[in-house]
Order: sequence, then structure tokens, then C-alpha cells
Amino acid sequence: MLDVAIIGGGPAGIAAALTLKARGVRRVAILEREAVLGGVPRHCGHPPFGLREFGRILTGPAYARRLAALAEEAGVEILPRYSVTALQPGGVVQAATPNGAATIRARRVLLATGAREAPRAARFVGGDRPLGVLNTGALQAYVHLHGLAPFRRPVVVGTELVGLSALATCRSHGIRPVAVVEAGARPVARWPLGLFPKLLGIPTYFNDGIEEIRGHGRVEAVRLRGGRELTCDGVLLTGRFLPEASLARLSHLALDPGSLGPVIDQYGRCSDGAYFAAGNLLRPIETAGWSFREGAAIGGYIADDLAGGLPAMEESINIVAGEGVKFVVPQRLARVTPLRGRLQLRVEAAISGRLRVSSEEAVLYKRRISTRPERRILIELDEMRPPREARQLVVEIVP
Ligand SMILES: Cc1cc2nc3c(=O)[nH]c(=O)nc-3n(C[C@H](O)[C@H](O)[C@H](O)COP(=O)(O)OP(=O)(O)OC[C@H]3O[C@@H](n4cnc5c(N)ncnc54)[C@H](O)[C@@H]3O)c2cc1C
Repeated sequence: MLDVAIIGGGPAGIAAALTLKARGVRRVAILEREAVLGGVPRHCGHPPFGLREFGRILTGPAYARRLAALAEEAGVEILPRYSVTALQPGGVVQAATPNGAATIRARRVLLATGAREAPRAARFVGGDRPLGVLNTGALQAYVHLHGLAPFRRPVVVGTELVGLSALATCRSHGIRPVAVVEAGARPVARWPLGLFPKLLGIPTYFNDGIEEIRGHGRVEAVRLRGGRELTCDGVLLTGRFLPEASLARLSHLALDPGSLGPVIDQYGRCSDGAYFAAGNLLRPIETAGWSFREGAAIGGYIADDLAGGLPAMEESINIVAGEGVKFVVPQRLARVTPLRGRLQLRVEAAISGRLRVSSEEAVLYKRRISTRPERRILIELDEMRPPREARQLVVEIVP
């Protein structure tokens, strides 16, 4: 029996493993479906990664290698090519391993399976089904891990930070995007980063999207909703991340319809107290450094829990995403005084107003806010004192 099984060897899972080992937890294993640890940064062949963790700016692969080396040095049991296929109550997981199917039992299980970009099917893009339609993750795996360029003149969809990462990857591999297409009226990435396509001389079409992909065998052209036709040899679909929550969705764990990740409390504890979750699985998406720090903190809470030091899960307060708010993480707060940690939220659409947290009885927190989708919004929990009888807190944006 393991003390802690960690599913996913990206920054969040590795950070949790390092904390657990530093806290003296004996048997900590990382189950990783790939052959090596490191997660998404393994194929992001560009900076910036690792400034806070290592005091210097690294490329993704260098960062991933350092994390993997630390896990090994710390004595974490590393189980590569272990693909977890099912989660069962009480910390029992099923995995497909190089030696066949296996059942793994652990006193606690941490889910750290990350997030992925929405594929074509989830974006309702019509037309033919030719080769050459990819997400950024796949592009980066092609160029950085296999030295292949899947196209030369793609149309890039999306202007989140990851879309700019995609442009940087294209540029450094001789790929010259024909255009960037953005559904919103402005770039999603903050100024000045949103100017990147313009600086590269790539035309950007706002308030638009791909209606139809054309091509037999390979992509030959796309038609935009606004009617424009673009000749290209690929389509790069960037951003619109979804938590990699298939395992949790098929399990007994409660899921949040807003974040699409598992429901957790302020300790990262899921609806079954044997399970915890950390990293981008909780919400799409944060940086690697954020995921690392989150994994380290939740690893610490798991160590506390193994020593009997976490408050009971019963009697928790539900957090509800109200008007204008897409999701709030965590979705439950164990009742302790003082509350520690923070609420993280995102909004549905660009909005200005007052961000307010209220219980059935009273307004506990408010501040002015002007924000847009995909921007991080935080509320420090120690700024709130929920009344003793509060069962639910609503987080909303009011005029
Ligand atoms: C294209 C791109 C560029 C980025 N650029 C930057 C950047 O420049 N700087 C930055 O700070 N951040 C960047 N990020 C974000 C950063 O990569 C993530 O924040 C970080 O990797 C999240 O860490 P994680 O541990 O939550 O998940 P991940 O890194 O996604 O790791 C999850 C791990 O879980 C494994 N896994 C999933 N399912 C299973 C299963 N069923 N069984 C076993 N293992 C499983 C996966 O194989 C993976 O190794 C970028 C992201 C992308 C996609």
C-alpha cells in the first residue's frame, strides 16, 4: 500500500511529491502515462519557466528535466507509462501499465492530470476532415520532441497566451502563419503581449472564427464566418483549455459544472476524502509556476491529513458562482477559523461592477472590478468572516 499515489507527473504532481517527501511521508509514487516526468513543459521549447522555483528563466524542457531530477533525488517512486484508467472509492486506482492492468491502493491519491486545449470537435468547425488540424500541444510535441513541421502556412485560431506561445514556436521553426483569427473584439492576452501577432506582421481578424475547413488529404483553405477565404496548409487551434478530468468524470467524485474540474475544499480535498486534486485540472489554466506552488501547498495538506491534522469535511460551506461568474475554486470551505487561502474565479464575459461575496445573512466582501474572461481573479479568504450558521456563500458581480 502506498502512502500517496500521485496521478500525473507535471509541475503540480512533482511539487506535491517533493513536499510530501520533505515532510517525511515514506511511500510516495507518481503514476505518469508518458515515458518521462515533466508534463506539458516538456514540449514547450521556449521560456519563461522556473523563475520562482529555480531563480532563473528556463525553457520548458529544461524546467521539466530539473523537476524530474528533483523527484528522483527525493526518493519519489516513479512509475512511467502508467496510465490510470479508473478511480474507485477510498483510494483504489486502476492503471494500464507496461506489465498489463494493475490495481494500486494508496492512503491518499492526488489527481494532477492537467488541462488540454479544446479539440476541433468541441469547437463545432464544419467542412472536410483533412490532415493538418492541430492544437498547440500537438504542434509543440511534433517540433520539439520529433523534429517535424506539420505545416508551413497555418491559420492560427485564438489569442490567449498559449496562442502567442504557438506563434513563437512557429516562428522558431520556419512556419509562417497566414493569419490569426480571434472570436472576441480584442486580444485575450494582456497588453502588450496581445500585440505580438501584429509585431510579426501577421494579419489578425477579430470577431471572427473558422466556419469551414477545406481540403482533401491535407488542409487547403478555410472560410471564416465573416466570409473571408484564406489559403493555408494547416489550422492551429489554440487555447480554450478544458481540465483533463475524464477520470474524475467517470468516477464517484463530484465535478463542478463551471470549472469542469473536481469539486475541492481549501485543502484541495475532493468529495471523497481519500482524493485530492491540484494544478490545471482544477481550472483552465494557470502558469507552470502557479501549478507548482499549488501542488506544493496541497502536498503539504495531504501530509497534514495523513497525520490527522485536517478539519472534518462534514459541515462545510458551499461556494456558489453567481451572476457574471463562470466558476469559483475551491467550491467548498471546511469550517475553520480563521479561513486561510483564497478563492480563485473567472468571469463569463468582459464585465465591470462590484465583486461581492455574501452569505444568507450578510455581505462579507466587496470590491470594484473590471475584468475579462481568462483573467485570474483572487479573493483572500482571511478577509472574510462567514457567520457561524452560514451554509452557502455566493460570489457574484453586481452593478
Ligand atoms: C502550449 C503551452 C505553452 C505554455 N507555456 C507556458 C510558459 O511559457 N510558461 C508557463 O509558466 N506556463 C506555460 N504553460 C502552462 C504550463 O504548461 C501549465 O501551467 C503546467 O504544465 C500545468 O501543470 P500540471 O502539473 O497541472 O499539468 P500538466 O503539465 O499538464 O501535467 C499533467 C500530467 O498528467 C499526466 N496524465 C494525464 N492523465 C493521466 C492519466 N490518466 N494517467 C497518468 N498520467 C496522466 C500527463 O501525461 C501529464 O504529464 C503552457 C501550456 C501550454 C499548453
